[in-house]
Amino acid sequence: MTVNNVIIVGGGLVGALAGCYFAKRGWDVSVYEKRADTRLEKNRLKKKSKSINLSISTRGLSAVERLDPELLKKVASITVPAYGRMVHEIGGKTVHAIRYSENGDYTSAVNRDILNQVLLTQLETYKNVKVYFEHKLETCDLKSKTARFRDLTTGECINTRADLIIGADGAYSKVRQRLQSSTRINLEQKYIDHAYCELLMQPKNNEFALDPDYVHIWPRETFLLLALPNIDKSFTCTLFMPLETFDSIQTYDDLVHFFEKNFPDTIELFGEEALKRYFENPKGDLFYIKTNPHHYSGNGLIVGDAAHCTVPFYAQGMNCGFEDIETLDVFLVEQAKMASAAKVSGANQDDDDDDDDVKTNKLTPQQIEAALIKYSACRPKDSAAMIDLALYNYTELRSGVNNPMVTVKIFMERKLSYWFPNLFCHLYSMVSFSKLSYSEATRRWKEQNRMINSIIMTSIGLSATVLGLGVLKISGPRLSQTTELLKLFNSKSM
Ligand code: FAD
Repeated sequence: MTVNNVIIVGGGLVGALAGCYFAKRGWDVSVYEKRADTRLEKNRLKKKSKSINLSISTRGLSAVERLDPELLKKVASITVPAYGRMVHEIGGKTVHAIRYSENGDYTSAVNRDILNQVLLTQLETYKNVKVYFEHKLETCDLKSKTARFRDLTTGECINTRADLIIGADGAYSKVRQRLQSSTRINLEQKYIDHAYCELLMQPKNNEFALDPDYVHIWPRETFLLLALPNIDKSFTCTLFMPLETFDSIQTYDDLVHFFEKNFPDTIELFGEEALKRYFENPKGDLFYIKTNPHHYSGNGLIVGDAAHCTVPFYAQGMNCGFEDIETLDVFLVEQAKMASAAKVSGANQDDDDDDDDVKTNKLTPQQIEAALIKYSACRPKDSAAMIDLALYNYTELRSGVNNPMVTVKIFMERKLSYWFPNLFCHLYSMVSFSKLSYSEATRRWKEQNRMINSIIMTSIGLSATVLGLGVLKISGPRLSQTTELLKLFNSKSM
């Protein structure tokens, strides 16, 4: 055989993108997806989706663009841009907008199924791809690079083999389980005590019910309602709450009472029918999984949620999964270039060559392994950092935006990044609008936090001194308040 072949388990967002990349590089690609093809009308109603709306940002878009700039245009056409957060305060009357950046940066809200369908359609444009819907992985052996699938329509089993097996089979990945039995893999999994439920807010008079330029949030300290715009002018709203709060809402009256108390401005916008969906719609668990390494030899690799399922509070799960695929492609292309440079005796490898047209066929097992080793040297660390940022952001989203101290700090972070772009960069921008690795973004953010804390402490110290000198008699209580403020600031910084 003159080309490599790859089995991809899972034709979700990350698996479909991975399939496109391998096909573009000339590999023979087989994608096995246990669900039916949702592009077919007859299958649409059967499908129960976990989440129907996602936010795609720089990392995700970059991976799409590297694959094919035309595909990026198609993806852009199914998204709605959001330029910041609109915070709905308790009581329902006051809202305030916080722009993501001073440069007009935006994230793009996209329907998960539509995006998946666009990627599957792209996948099928490559002649060297075969997609098997309704085929479920039963087991695989990464040592022998074999896999067994069950055709769910006939019940038949198919045994197959490839040069490389990619597990893109999501949070409950079977390939990850098999990886654990093939190699020493560290795994950390944790459920958080919160879950989520989605509700749809339909358009009002054929227009968006809320300002579509923003992601809307209703932060309520221990829980949060979030709304993302859809291209059909509806909003997908997600209620993130502790499990016991979900349990406490048993009847429609309970629900209305809860919304009247916490989100009164939304009751009319949802309407009774949409609100009642609360009782039918699934309550999704929230958990994370970190794994390291992500590969076994040159034989197998897990990507996307299979490798690093996260809580969704930084909107980075899919973005990180797409970045996995771009990173993998970079390392495979690097191997291919080294191989072709070695063939041409005495020729110097030109690192500046455009990667676009490079075909990576046919790599030896050692070359594939070399790429996977490089991959596992960075992605486990970076995806773990992404998960930590998502856990942190849940606190910031539901309570930080209500806390004047945190707001001041975010404001300073943003202004400093605008005035001194070489010294400071707002965390949200580093995560959502740059391709700086998640671990490096975290490192820089912590360093910046220390600097901002010093600025604040110095300012407060100076003010206290001035106050102390001016109003000597009441300086005691004020200074002790100041100390409390400093403690609060220090405890908020990580
Ligand atoms: P999945 O999307 O889970 O796809 C896995 C595929 O594998 C599925 O199609 C499944 O049917 C198939 N499969 C599973 N087992 C088998 C088997 N045995 N055989 C064959 N096929 C199999 N991320 C963002 O970037 N931005 C967001 O705004 C965002 N919001 C989110 C909101 C919520 C509420 C949640 C829960 C997640 C959110 N995410 C977001 C995360 C994002 O949904 C995931 O990171 C992303 O879907 C992962 O894609 P994946 O392809 O790795 O896994």
